[in-house]
Amino acid sequence: MSKGNSKDTLENSADGKVRSIEETLSLDQRVEIIKKSVENIIYALGDDPKREGLLKTPQRYAKAILEILWGYFADPEDIIGDAIFEQDYSGIVLVRHIKFFSMCEHHLLPFFGNCSIAYIPDGKIIGLSKLPRVVKFFAGRLQVQERLTEDIGKFIEKVLKPRGVAIYVSAYHLCLAMRGVKKEGVKMDTVFFSGKFQHDDNLKNFFLKQIREDRKIEI
Ligand SMILES: [Zn+2]
Repeated sequence: MSKGNSKDTLENSADGKVRSIEETLSLDQRVEIIKKSVENIIYALGDDPKREGLLKTPQRYAKAILEILWGYFADPEDIIGDAIFEQDYSGIVLVRHIKFFSMCEHHLLPFFGNCSIAYIPDGKIIGLSKLPRVVKFFAGRLQVQERLTEDIGKFIEKVLKPRGVAIYVSAYHLCLAMRGVKKEGVKMDTVFFSGKFQHDDNLKNFFLKQIREDRKIEI
């Protein structure tokens, strides 16, 4: 994650490297490359990329995928901005059922679901509206659900230095639902615990009990 002049850098969550914008492609170059690739996919499927219904599809797809994967072109610390406040509160902050959409890096197909976040502050809290933005930022990259869960947890640890963090992500994966054994209704759950949540079973169980109540809510 870059600091300071963060607009000029971007981070790739897969390898953690920060690259300057100058080293990367322009928006027009990205659109052109994606368009060409989508044309090739349509061609490889045996359809005609020049038929009317498909003619503008590569352009539309390029715009859509660049919008969906906006997390490559933003800095999470810009998202947080100045929304971290000094606050003497030592209870649990729990934000539940944040909806997100992401793209599986193994199949380039969507996975989507919800994320619940809890933390125990150590003098600092974060503006409530920022946590959904943090989830959407990390979901806005090619991901696996396991890393998405950890990315969110570790980022909250980094910016708040709280006494503990708990993250719960539950998602449907279209790569699982639409292909292979076609397990349509299967959801995947991932959990991240740190600090007090990791070491105190009462806290862990309190968090998981709240989440179990959430599971009655449909995505
Ligand atoms: Zn997949």
